This record gives sequence, C-alpha cells and structure tokens, in this order.
Amino acid sequence: MTTVFPVPALNDNYVWVITDDHGHCAVVDPGEAAPVVEALRARNLTLDAILVTHHHPDHQGGVGGVLKYAEVPVYGPAAESIRHRTHALREGDVVRLDTLGLELGVLETPGHTAGHISLYGHGLLFSGDTLFAGGCGRLFEGTPEQMMQSLSKLTELPADTNVYAGHEYTLANLRFAHRVEPDNDALSERVEAVQALRARGECTMPSTLEEELRTNPFLRSGVDAVRRNAEQYAGKRLSSPVDVFATVRAWKDAS
Ligand SMILES: [Zn+2]
Repeated sequence: MTTVFPVPALNDNYVWVITDDHGHCAVVDPGEAAPVVEALRARNLTLDAILVTHHHPDHQGGVGGVLKYAEVPVYGPAAESIRHRTHALREGDVVRLDTLGLELGVLETPGHTAGHISLYGHGLLFSGDTLFAGGCGRLFEGTPEQMMQSLSKLTELPADTNVYAGHEYTLANLRFAHRVEPDNDALSERVEAVQALRARGECTMPSTLEEELRTNPFLRSGVDAVRRNAEQYAGKRLSSPVDVFATVRAWKDAS
C-alpha cells in the first residue's frame, strides 16, 4: 500500500515521502537534506527517486545532500534549472517508479514559476507551490491567466484526489479566505478543523480537491460572493473571473 508522509523542512516547507510496505520510497521537493536523510534512516527506507516541482531553493536545495545518502534519479521540470536533474519532465510525461508500483503523470502548471510542474497519479497530487491547501502560490514568474489555467487543470482531476502541497500555509490561507467569503459555512468549518490540527502541531494535509473547490478562494473566482467582495476590495467592477482571481491574489499579497 502506498503511503505519504511529510518531513518538515526549513521554516514551513514539507518534503513529501511516498513509500510502500516494502521499504522503498521517493521524495518530493527536498529543500533541505538533513531532516529527509534522518527520516529515511529512522524508517530504514530505500530511496529510489527524487522529484522536484520547481527551481526555488526551498524545494531543491537539499537534492545534493540527499544524493549523498543514495545515488538515485532526479526528476524535475524541463523548463527550469534543477541541479543534479537526470530526467527532464514535460506535460504528459509519466514518471514510472517501478519499485513503488507507481506512475505519476506530469502536468505543467506555470504561474508561481514559469516551468512549474505538478505530479498526479493513484489519487495523489503533488502540487508544489501551485495549489496550496486553502490558497495558491504567489505569481513570481507568471500571469494571473496562467495560474488560473494551471489551477483549473488541477481541479479537473477527480474530486477525491488528495492534495500534497509544498508549505504549511493552510491556516493563514484560510483566515484570508474567510475575509473573502465570510458567509461560506464549509470554510468556517474548515478554519476550525485546521485551527485544531495546528494547535496540536499536526500537518493540515492532504486535503482533497473537493474541499479546495468548496473553500479555496483562488478556485472560486466564478462565485458571486467572491466577486462582490473582490470588487469591494478593488473599488471597481470586475468583469471576468480572471480579473476576480488577479484581485484576490493582489489582496492576499497585500494582507
Ligand atoms: Zn516556490
């Protein structure tokens, strides 16, 4: 059986470890090596692959260090500079992790960075800094249009897909979401649930795409209440969902 667990790294990053019952594993976005190596040693796991979603140092800075633990293939986006990369990934490619019995499809999801990829398979989505629980990544290298398109590509996946994102930003994201949509009951419930998890120091992921669609303001630009509140923030009418999305993103950046 496939299981996924987080290794907290740096300030608020998660390195996701995908493992099975036979002691094999792959890691996603090792921004830091030491906690990853420690976690693999503690569980006596054999590392078979490293996967990287985008070039930011907090997602690939530990690749070299992890390679000292085990010399394994490094998969990363073709369009970005990923140190130690052995396999360059593009839209539609499939990463076959035979020892884990896993196939992960590659989705190009630009917006946060120009070449950002997400990986999906077996009901698992590794969304890096594109889709967060309750939010989305900042637009460092892309446009609102690109990010919206990337997010809608992800939300076309099955609703019960488990979402594993790169950071523990969920509570801050949901507190902001609540300002955008104060009357969304599903959101109020999620804020409480996530608050309880964080109070116990627990990880707030995975979420599901269904949960995200109901509560993540960046997936809800077409919802009337989101548009109205974004218009109030902007002080003008917003004629298209992408204008709503861009306004909510700017609002979050400023808050
Ligand atoms: Zn990033």
